[in-house]
Amino acid sequence: MRKKEELEKLNRKIKNCKKCSLWKTRKKAVPGEGEICPEIMILGQAPGAKEDETGRPFVGRAGNFLNQLLKIAKIKRERVFITSPIKCFPPKNRKPTPKEIKSCSSYLKKQIEILNPSKFILLGEVAFKIFFPKNKLKDFRGKWVILRQTQAKKKFFITYHPAAGLRFKKIKKILEKDFNRIKLNH
Ligand code: URA
Ligand code: SF4
Repeated sequence: MRKKEELEKLNRKIKNCKKCSLWKTRKKAVPGEGEICPEIMILGQAPGAKEDETGRPFVGRAGNFLNQLLKIAKIKRERVFITSPIKCFPPKNRKPTPKEIKSCSSYLKKQIEILNPSKFILLGEVAFKIFFPKNKLKDFRGKWVILRQTQAKKKFFITYHPAAGLRFKKIKKILEKDFNRIKLNH
């Protein structure tokens, strides 16, 4: 129960947060949702318009595509925790700024501390750079990478963001291939 309460407390903080200017234009902050003891945490970029309206992660078009990808990987959505490094909608869906990412980073850090997942699926550049600031996504994409974080080893699967797959056929194919590989490996 303690984990649940800690997470609820954190969610309240996120919903009232004014640490960066995105609070002024958001309708609802999107803390994320899922299993309280997830094996896997899935990280996107930032909420979109639909997420902003509902306060829930990945419920728009990219979310529908993510659901399909999870099916390919044989991962049940309710068994993972899904969130984004940025908890509020950047107007017009623009990329979050480094300053916004930094302002928001303590929330993700705390979520990881509470939920303690052993595996992560990083969707796109923003999520990738948080854990691999000096590396290039294209060198790591489609693979599980192990990082030793303090005392624990964490595994990261790196791939593109589903929204990119909706824009480009080639990326859609790669995402499907990558999630098929997750199925074989996890
Ligand atoms: N895209 C993201 O990266 N995160 C969401 O929550 C929704 C869409
Ligand atoms: Fe706070 Fe993050 Fe929202 Fe900025 S994006 S207002 S730091 S919760």
